[in-house]
Amino acid sequence: MRRDRKRERDLARQRIIKLLRMADSIYKTEPDLAIRYGELARRISLRSRVKIPREWRSRYCKRCGTLLFPGLNATIRTREKRFPHIVIKCNICGSIRRIPYLREKSSRRVRL
Ligand SMILES: [Zn+2]
Repeated sequence: MRRDRKRERDLARQRIIKLLRMADSIYKTEPDLAIRYGELARRISLRSRVKIPREWRSRYCKRCGTLLFPGLNATIRTREKRFPHIVIKCNICGSIRRIPYLREKSSRRVRL
């Protein structure tokens, strides 16, 4: 039983990675499909409790859950004011996130 669950989660993880890689490779020509793949990967992740791999995790909009592609449904800018950070704006719901890009202790404490 336990083994089956592990296998299920392995399969889920593989499917998630496959979907996200596909999404990244097609988003310029098939944006709707790419966003849909992002949704699917997220749904599998929630259902199987397998986490989205780190390289994609920060690209999901925290508010509406859409997978963001720079220049397609998201605007990404860098800002130096107060602390160096990246501003990611989701063009679907308009939510804005700031991610510090220097690994300093002080930047960890910044309120987002
Ligand atoms: Zn959003």
